Amino acid sequence: MSGVILVSGGAGYIGSHTVLTLRERGREVLVLDDLSEGHEAALLGAPLARGSMLDRDFVRGVFADHDISAVFHFAARCYVGESVQNPGLYYRHNVLGTLNLLDALVEQGVKRFVLSSTCATYGEPARIPITEDLPQDPINPYGATKLVDEWMLRDFHRAHGLESVALRYFNAAGADPGGRIGEDHEPETHLIPLVIHAAMGKRDRLTVFGDDYDTPDGTCIRDYVHVTDLAEAHVLALEAMERAPGTIGVSAYNLGNEAGTSVLEVIRAVEEVTGLKVPYTVGARRAGDPPRLVGSSARVREALGWKPRFGDIRTIVETAWRWHRDHPEGFRS
Ligand code: UDP
Repeated sequence: MSGVILVSGGAGYIGSHTVLTLRERGREVLVLDDLSEGHEAALLGAPLARGSMLDRDFVRGVFADHDISAVFHFAARCYVGESVQNPGLYYRHNVLGTLNLLDALVEQGVKRFVLSSTCATYGEPARIPITEDLPQDPINPYGATKLVDEWMLRDFHRAHGLESVALRYFNAAGADPGGRIGEDHEPETHLIPLVIHAAMGKRDRLTVFGDDYDTPDGTCIRDYVHVTDLAEAHVLALEAMERAPGTIGVSAYNLGNEAGTSVLEVIRAVEEVTGLKVPYTVGARRAGDPPRLVGSSARVREALGWKPRFGDIRTIVETAWRWHRDHPEGFRS
């Protein structure tokens, strides 16, 4: 297929793994990123248009200057806690930023769009595993902004024929199995890198946020999904839109492994994989943490043929460990 795939936020964690997967398939990519959080080194030489999604003229210029056939949109703020403290930041980046992109798409007649969405759009689900037909009722601004993005896609489809796939991720984790890139956030807030940092002695200890939940071991359960499997789902979504233009409409799929892993089980997996002890203490619950989030991915398996290759928690931790062991200072190493 001809045309450039524009990847907003392609220097970030999930974006960079997707850029790598696209390039391995021989696809031409252009990354749009302001490098406020992403890393140029994560691009592994992929071309970059550096600038902000909030700069309308810049975004329109990128579309005018390139033969873009589809957009993968990762650029967003993505911390629940921060979104509660500073909702304006989230609406500005995640809603206005997306709108700038969509306006430019429409102006240039681009018809294919894949959105990074999230299980946070469901809020506190009435049932587990979460299926796509459950009501979306977010409980924090982060989830709300992503839901607004999904609504914009529905309306832009009606008005302009824009086809889109929203991928609602569960907990992205792991690193490129080839060891080339991995997770590097500043500050880090995600469980698996924090547990590995505690094992390596990069931090004194991990705090487990609550062990009095109504779960088998009392700690929260999440559905961890490998970042390379997420990347693969984006490519499958694109291929489906290319294969049968006009038939995808507005689709949304969960991306999870249908397997719940508790915080204590993650700690155990890290100890087994690394052979190191993880120092931890149990602290208070973190506000806004639902006890259990597990996603059904039956729909995406059926519709797009998605088959996670790195589904089990041990493999996820192994790839993350390799990255952190070999890059103790992340991309600065
Ligand atoms: N968690 C924890 N200690 C930490 C960070 C996270 O116990 O220092 C727990 C958190 O309460 C949640 C799980 O680990 O139950 C995953 O949290 P993370 O922030 O990685 O992802 P989230 O589920 O919030 O998107």
